Amino acid sequence: MFIAGLQETTLLDYPWKVATIIFTSGCNMKCWYCHNWRFVVPEEIKKRSSHMIGEGIFFRFLESRKNILDGVVICGGEPTIHGDLLHFCRKIKSLWLLVKLDTNGSHPEVLSRLIEEKVVDYIAMDVKHSFSPSYNKLIGLDIPMKKFEESINVIRQSHVDYEFRTTVIKWIHTRDDIISIAIFLAGAQHYYLQNYRPWSTLDPEFSWESFTEAELIWFSDDASRYVKTSYRI
Ligand code: SF4
Repeated sequence: MFIAGLQETTLLDYPWKVATIIFTSGCNMKCWYCHNWRFVVPEEIKKRSSHMIGEGIFFRFLESRKNILDGVVICGGEPTIHGDLLHFCRKIKSLWLLVKLDTNGSHPEVLSRLIEEKVVDYIAMDVKHSFSPSYNKLIGLDIPMKKFEESINVIRQSHVDYEFRTTVIKWIHTRDDIISIAIFLAGAQHYYLQNYRPWSTLDPEFSWESFTEAELIWFSDDASRYVKTSYRI
């Protein structure tokens, strides 16, 4: 696994844990509002190629920090597009560290395998929209909705901790979309509504308005009727 970026310590990205976060390069989606576009746009990845961190360096770093870390957060880009993800997670687990995976949910078969092999402890999956044609419009790609539904089911039926999350964007998501997602997720461990931040996006033209905190509370209250919901401003 080549690591495109690394933040040595995060107290925010793995609930209640001290973790290192790594960014894998490349993604199968092209969400207009993506903030991690430096790890998504091929030309940007190429520009950063000389700064990639090899596994050897990364595992030496982990060895030196394993006494102060609880785990590693693997995000991207999209980590599940990489064929060596399973092997990579195994190596992290061999150091007795926890693994949190952030995913767009497009590869349910990869999630299944990671869960079966017990090499992942926490999964955070994006549910980008209600299951309608708007989903594919938002991600800039045609992926069958059943892939996302399958990923949700795989995660929910597993032994791992997890959360589902939607980055909510004014004029893209309606109250009905949020309710529809919450109904689909009914009974899940946790659903987060994350407010869209209108800067540094994959599509520079995409600088739409964010919801107000009052609007987020309103959505969150609605969704809470079906699934435990919180919001992140
Ligand atoms: S938001 Fe996530 S899924 Fe969408 S392009 Fe960015 S990294 Fe990929």
